[in-house]
Amino acid sequence: MTQRLGKNLNGYHGETIDIRSVLREIETAAPAYGWTSEIFHTHGDLDWVALHRPARITDHALRKRIHISAGIHGDEPAGPLAALKLIQDDLWPGNVEIFLLPCLNPLGFLRNQRANADGIDLNRDYRNPQSTETRRHIAWLERQPRFDLYLCLHEDWEAHGFYLYETNPDERTPLAEIMIAAVAPVCPVDGSEIIEGRPAQGGIIRPKISLQERPDWPEAFYHITHKARQGYTLEAPSDFPLPVRVSALVTAVNAAVNSLMAR
Ligand SMILES: [Zn+2]
Repeated sequence: MTQRLGKNLNGYHGETIDIRSVLREIETAAPAYGWTSEIFHTHGDLDWVALHRPARITDHALRKRIHISAGIHGDEPAGPLAALKLIQDDLWPGNVEIFLLPCLNPLGFLRNQRANADGIDLNRDYRNPQSTETRRHIAWLERQPRFDLYLCLHEDWEAHGFYLYETNPDERTPLAEIMIAAVAPVCPVDGSEIIEGRPAQGGIIRPKISLQERPDWPEAFYHITHKARQGYTLEAPSDFPLPVRVSALVTAVNAAVNSLMAR
């Protein structure tokens, strides 16, 4: 099994990416695979893009919509790379409609830092947004239909392996175990009983979320409140090689999408 690199002490010290070139690759690849793109924010030469891939089968009873976002933390390169690979692999079932936001924090990536250029953690900014990036993302979300599922792609530099958060208040068929089982052959799973201060089991955290008590909403809280009743925050372990982390995220997304569409 893949060994930890031992590089990440007190923060992320692993590989970095040139976000401009990754975003260029994404914007070049997307139309070739039938995606349209909308720019919902710009800063200098950087674009915040929302990609949309319509369902190929237009039976409305079967169609499901999924919001996939990545790159909200600028020191987590696996997310935008996973977005690129998902586009290039093009393994989507016919009746799924995907909304893919490959990088929510390009300015963080320019600095290899978690926060945006003003030091705001965008993933704590979804209740009373202070950042332009989050305001623009929410303004874009308000123009979209509801989703059947959201997936937020992240990394954790402290993790011993892959893990995920499940939010599923209506107790729909869970997708957590399916994702963990799919990821296990490609990336170690964090078996810790406590992860990020929360009880975990087999790489799955099912947090008791108190939306109203928490002032600093992550993106997931916005989705649960406004857009979708089931979703997952996926955390790839930064202390493993970057291709392993990308593969873990891609594998988890494919497993979730296929399982959702099969039920
Ligand atoms: Zn993150």
